[in-house]
Amino acid sequence: MSQTERIETASGEPAPVPGHILSDEVLPARAYWHKRIAKGEVLRIVDLEGCQAVDTLIYDAADTSVRYNAANTMKLAGSVYLSKGCVIYDDLARPLMTMIDDTVGRHDTLAGACSREINMVRYGATAPTSCRDNFIAALAELGMTARDIPANINFFMHVPVDGSGRVAIADGISKPGDHVDLRCERDVIVVISNCPQEHNPCSGGRPTPIRLTVWQP
Ligand SMILES: [Zn+2]
Repeated sequence: MSQTERIETASGEPAPVPGHILSDEVLPARAYWHKRIAKGEVLRIVDLEGCQAVDTLIYDAADTSVRYNAANTMKLAGSVYLSKGCVIYDDLARPLMTMIDDTVGRHDTLAGACSREINMVRYGATAPTSCRDNFIAALAELGMTARDIPANINFFMHVPVDGSGRVAIADGISKPGDHVDLRCERDVIVVISNCPQEHNPCSGGRPTPIRLTVWQP
């Protein structure tokens, strides 16, 4: 069955989902989330208020020792940025997901996740939580540990690399209601930390909610 359903973003702009919605939830600022998603289904991540980094890990549901591999993904994309059409690869260079839609045009997988420890090193300050804390809490619910954290994707995070190789966490470029659609190429487990960082611009200095919709084309 194929039908078009609509969800409302915080900005009030309708975001058409070209298929049947299987689940639809808002993840509060600073919270974590995990879900098993079947082959062929699509995860839509909506940046409801704009400039919100969404730290993401992806595992093969059949064998969680096989997971997202940032280096393979960048090598095979020929780019340090993830964008529409990009295939997200695992440790064995097999597709986990494909970015079939993207209203931003550029997502990061270089800068990794924030932690209380690097906040202290970089900013001399820490916070009650971090993406690393969120990942560890989510993975514990899935029977995994900190050893299962690879380099992650940062959807909607702006980490420009210039010609000399300089890299920085810059002001975000995503607008309220921007989204990515990620089609599962096999059964996967997705783990998300809705980044609580307030010491740099990755979440606009003000963490905000996101929307997570799983739909069937
Ligand atoms: Zn973070």
